[in-house]
Amino acid sequence: MQWTPERVEVLTRLWAEGLSARQIAAKLGGVTRNAVIGKAHRLNLQRGAPVPEPPPIPEPVIREEPPVALGPDVKSWMCRQQTEEPGRHGLHICGKTAQPGRPYCAEHITASYVQRKRTAA
Ligand SMILES: [Zn+2]
Repeated sequence: MQWTPERVEVLTRLWAEGLSARQIAAKLGGVTRNAVIGKAHRLNLQRGAPVPEPPPIPEPVIREEPPVALGPDVKSWMCRQQTEEPGRHGLHICGKTAQPGRPYCAEHITASYVQRKRTAA
């Protein structure tokens, strides 16, 4: 009996799957259990260890929506200070030109600063 590459491949696969030498010998045919064991040892085959589960893919981080839906009419340059009555542009925000890098106009930056200062005091 020749150990053709195909038979070695079958042996390797079945051995890794955990079949007994007798079962593998039966599947291959024309080979004894001892021959299977001998070949497996010569090939230094490893009994199949349980394949580790791949780590779970982390859920994508869902960015929290901003607290107020400002709508498509709100431009990035608009002051976001909310107003009781519809202000400019018919929106419930101030809508004045905001300060660079700030969501509020100069007036409302000052107002919120004063308010915070008053709250802190
Ligand atoms: Zn404003």
